[in-house]
Amino acid sequence: MEQDLVETEKRRKREINIDPSLQWSQWQLLDSILPTGGFAHSFGLEAAIQARLVSGPDDLQTFVIHLLENTGSLLLPFVYSATMNPTLDNWQKLDRILDATLSNEVGRKASVSQGSSLMRVAASVFTELLSLKSMRDVCIGPGVVSFHHAPVFGIICGLLGMDSGTSQRAYIFMTMRDVISAATRLNLVGPLGAAVLQHRVASVAESMVKKWMDRSVEDACQTAPLLDTIQGCHTYLFSRLWEVPKKEGGGGETKDPPKALLHSTMSIPILETCRKRKRRPKLFGLHSFAEPGCPINPTGPFRDNIRIFLKQCAEPEDYCVKGMPLWCTLLVRDKSCVVPLYTIEEGVNHSLNPFCDHCRCTGWGNHLVSKRKYHVVIPNDRDWNKPLEDNVLNIHSHLLHGLIHCNGFGHLLCINGIEGGSKYLYGREIMDLWDRICEILKARKISVEDASKKHGMDLRLLHGVAYGHTWFGRWGYKFCRGSYGVSEENYDRAIEILSSQKLDKIIQDFSDREQSRQIKCMVQHYRDLSESQLVTIRDLFKFMLTIKSRSTLQKKLVAATAAPSASVQKNSIRISFHKKDNSKEKYLRCKRFTSVIAHMDSRWPAKRLEFAAEVIVDALKQHKSEVGHGGMTRQDLRDAARMHIGDTGLLDYVLKSMNNVIVGCHIVRRGINSARVLEYTIDDVDNPVKDLKLLEATEEIHQKPLPDLLPAPTPVPGTDVYNDVVYLYNNTLLNYPESELLELATQAVLDSKHFVKDRPFRDEDDQLLRFFCQVMPGLFDAENMATETSPAGELVMVPLHATVFDLKQAAEKALRDTYCIMDKFVVTEVDNLGEMEDRDVLFGALESGAEILVRGSGIDFDSNLKHEGGADNWIVRCECGARDDDGERMIACDICEVWQHTRCCSIEDSEAVPPLFVCPGCCTSFGPPMTNSPLEFQCSDDLLLDSATMYGMDYEYDNCIGLLQ
Ligand SMILES: [Zn+2]
Ligand SMILES: [Zn+2]
Ligand SMILES: [Zn+2]
Repeated sequence: MEQDLVETEKRRKREINIDPSLQWSQWQLLDSILPTGGFAHSFGLEAAIQARLVSGPDDLQTFVIHLLENTGSLLLPFVYSATMNPTLDNWQKLDRILDATLSNEVGRKASVSQGSSLMRVAASVFTELLSLKSMRDVCIGPGVVSFHHAPVFGIICGLLGMDSGTSQRAYIFMTMRDVISAATRLNLVGPLGAAVLQHRVASVAESMVKKWMDRSVEDACQTAPLLDTIQGCHTYLFSRLWEVPKKEGGGGETKDPPKALLHSTMSIPILETCRKRKRRPKLFGLHSFAEPGCPINPTGPFRDNIRIFLKQCAEPEDYCVKGMPLWCTLLVRDKSCVVPLYTIEEGVNHSLNPFCDHCRCTGWGNHLVSKRKYHVVIPNDRDWNKPLEDNVLNIHSHLLHGLIHCNGFGHLLCINGIEGGSKYLYGREIMDLWDRICEILKARKISVEDASKKHGMDLRLLHGVAYGHTWFGRWGYKFCRGSYGVSEENYDRAIEILSSQKLDKIIQDFSDREQSRQIKCMVQHYRDLSESQLVTIRDLFKFMLTIKSRSTLQKKLVAATAAPSASVQKNSIRISFHKKDNSKEKYLRCKRFTSVIAHMDSRWPAKRLEFAAEVIVDALKQHKSEVGHGGMTRQDLRDAARMHIGDTGLLDYVLKSMNNVIVGCHIVRRGINSARVLEYTIDDVDNPVKDLKLLEATEEIHQKPLPDLLPAPTPVPGTDVYNDVVYLYNNTLLNYPESELLELATQAVLDSKHFVKDRPFRDEDDQLLRFFCQVMPGLFDAENMATETSPAGELVMVPLHATVFDLKQAAEKALRDTYCIMDKFVVTEVDNLGEMEDRDVLFGALESGAEILVRGSGIDFDSNLKHEGGADNWIVRCECGARDDDGERMIACDICEVWQHTRCCSIEDSEAVPPLFVCPGCCTSFGPPMTNSPLEFQCSDDLLLDSATMYGMDYEYDNCIGLLQ
């Protein structure tokens, strides 16, 4: 089959080389004069306009982009496949599949009418394509093919010798052209505006083509459910969404919606709110919102970008929360729900909490107070239908709450997905959305305090050990600041110490304890399951976390092995292998691929996984028949399968799950070949039932009990992976016997809660110069503010031909716009420009991306709103090394007034703070040493670290010794 494709492609390439006259036909196919019916088709635009969903050029652009995305994902695979193989058989097949794929009647009809029209015209115009006419003649009878547009277009392109890339690009181009010309016809844009729009969208269109091209029809999918909704359900949905509700008992009631539709709208709680609003909301896809260009792509600093965002992606609400204005963005997730995303603007000048505790705890207490905070909030599902309440900023059950200061520094305050109480959204989904929003708005640094737990386990410890980073690490959040003086070095070291523990050593360390048998059993169980060697605790946790989603499968396997009867046949089939060179026999479980995937938590439907498996088996079979024996390397196999499967993600996923699986009447196995390369082999299973009997026979002989059959105390390893993870977490991480080193390491990881994502500055490829503008430190020195200026300058942009004067103005504007105390700042001088005059042009004198220092006057030193850390001048000096508030509980000494951690002073978190507290330092100077002398830390010191101390206690420690001697 793949050979056919290659042959066809070659033949077509020859044709086009031989016959350049075909190019004239190719161009004609794309010419708008060709009466293909595209002219009459508006792709649902008309309905969208009637519903006031699209009312101007901005909306139109969004609409077009959505349409192109959907066309790319859904139809390009059909164009591709038809172009590659423009035969009658293939056409009929594609037509049938597409007919079954198109989910709404309106879209289906449009596709059919456009397609048959194109076929008719092409058959009579391109007379050189004899086969086209004959194909049409064969299929013209009723019910043979539906003449869907995409396959017809692909067939014609193929016959005209177009290469597959061009034909797919052409298809997107035509779609774009047709919808924009529909917009002109509907008076949405003028002809010139339409041409400009078409050209502007072209780059987006190209990215769509790149994203979706060369995929197999198995991968065709809807990406813009909104469009599908518009095209399919507009009659009803639109009346619900945007029409003014009719009065009870009044005439002209809306017709009953079809049942399926009623069902889908019932789960859209937000619709009611929309309806009450009586105005046109903008809707975006939850999963594509805030991708570059979707719908905006601002290139300025955050303070400007957020304004563009609010203007273009959000609607102002008609109420305020505590005087703060807010905007709402509606995000459509599949057809299941519409999610409201609120943006609240908090002006610091009038705020009750002008300072930022999060900044202080992140170590940004020295930042100047930004004028505005923007809160990005997705409330809990149950509140989607209500207006936001006054206490919205203090609620911790939001699905998402992020805060970004107008200088671009921000904090992720909470994420709650399904596990956090949402019925609809996954934490990962929300995190993706938040990450895209930060990226598109060019937020500079976002911190997060990771206190997330699952099944009672701190994820920063569990994930830290398993993956080397926290859950947030997947999105690029890195260590920012540890509490109790834990430094990044300490953190890395602690992670390394914990995760490199050898499993064998653990088993040994536990050997004379009650958990011994249990831990041994558990390790053995997962070692048996894993294909790779599990050496360290990291390997083990990592493996357990990857299979946790399949815990149901595990349960079934255990059930099946415990009661080997009919259920074995259904769920798993075991086959014994006889290796000649190995006297030790090993049981290998062979499972039916269908039952394996039935329990896998995959994003692909089972049908497509099975299809992929069949393709892989076919490739292996063919290879075997050609070569005779031996396996295929993973790369070769993947390449062969790629001919039929466009989605490499799907392919890799299936390849990964294929080991000792039965597909049809074949067993696929995986192993390392003599060249140390991963290799797949295939064998026939003549009669799986016979092999099963064989297995049962061998099992009787060997009587080797499997670990999951052992009568072990609870939890039985493998019954519930999470139970096992919790068990190991508690024993090997939290309560490791007699190891202060591990105890300290665990504490260090648990004490590291602040993580940060840094978005480094990137100069854009445009006609603007960008500078980072800092205020001269000297300006603050005068006021005893030390060198605590803004940590990174403000981004200032000026045109290429700007003068020194323009730069001063831009810097002044940026600083005034951003910081409270800079409200009346006047820039008098730019330090880096030496002798340059105001009227001199910058270009050539200053590189784009450079830092500049400005001097000026008008800083409001009397303002209270100087630093995010607040006006208080706390002195923090704790024996753990902390020199700054880190968010942990502290107490001030009543003599020296220095703050220190309660924990470091041996005050339990459950204990109240004593009414009078004198720190150990003051104690030693005024009297005999207290019982909780820092000496007690001595024992752990040299255990953990070679030179530096884990808790930075060397300095204090030496002092204490000095004091005590
Ligand atoms: Zn802050
Ligand atoms: Zn401390
Ligand atoms: Zn003191």
